[in-house]
Amino acid sequence: MLRVALTGGIGSGKSTVARMFAAHGAPVVDADEIAHRLVQRGQPAYLEIVEAFGTEILGADGEIDRPRLSGRIFDSADERRRLEAIVHPRVRHEIVERVPALHAPYCIIVVPLLIEAGMQDLADRILVVDCNEQQQIERVRKRSGLSEDRIRRIVAAQISSSERRSLADDVIINDADLVQVQAQVDRLHELYRALSGAEPHPPATR
Ligand code: ADP
Repeated sequence: MLRVALTGGIGSGKSTVARMFAAHGAPVVDADEIAHRLVQRGQPAYLEIVEAFGTEILGADGEIDRPRLSGRIFDSADERRRLEAIVHPRVRHEIVERVPALHAPYCIIVVPLLIEAGMQDLADRILVVDCNEQQQIERVRKRSGLSEDRIRRIVAAQISSSERRSLADDVIINDADLVQVQAQVDRLHELYRALSGAEPHPPATR
């Protein structure tokens, strides 16, 4: 099976693109979803995080208060690395376990911090979704209500779009409407099927 890692900056359109591949039948493994689950109460990463950051990062329900934790790591690169050292190896481990069990010509592994976390080796091919920074900020602002300043700081903490694109095998430009994104996904779906050696789809009958 061909393993395609899908990455891109915050708000670039990763989830949107992943949904389009899923609609084509591709299994999607999402690193963020795995990370969220791994830090829930009762999971080993939960205890390690509480030990590292203290109970002040917990909400009233005893779960990790993500915005509070994000606030902490945002003001300190050391704390961010500390959190990543707890979470990233576990995410990697779960991806390595789950992917071989999938049955499909290709799969999409969504890893927002693929390059920052050095997880490129988990995939055979890197697909980057990209849009310009102003669109990125606008889309995240609408979606999350975070301030522009905060979003700019998140973008600045990630690698630059040019660095990311220099490592890409494929790029989806998401700077227009969704119809254009869909067309790029459709083309790549055919490419990935072809690369995986799957039978081409028969031509549509009219
Ligand atoms: P990511 O997963 O990379 O953070 P999303 O796919 O969630 O990005 O996209 C960010 C936001 O922008 C979402 O609310 C999404 O619906 C919206 N969005 C993404 N692509 C487009 C587009 N081409 N046109 C309009 N809105 C878009």
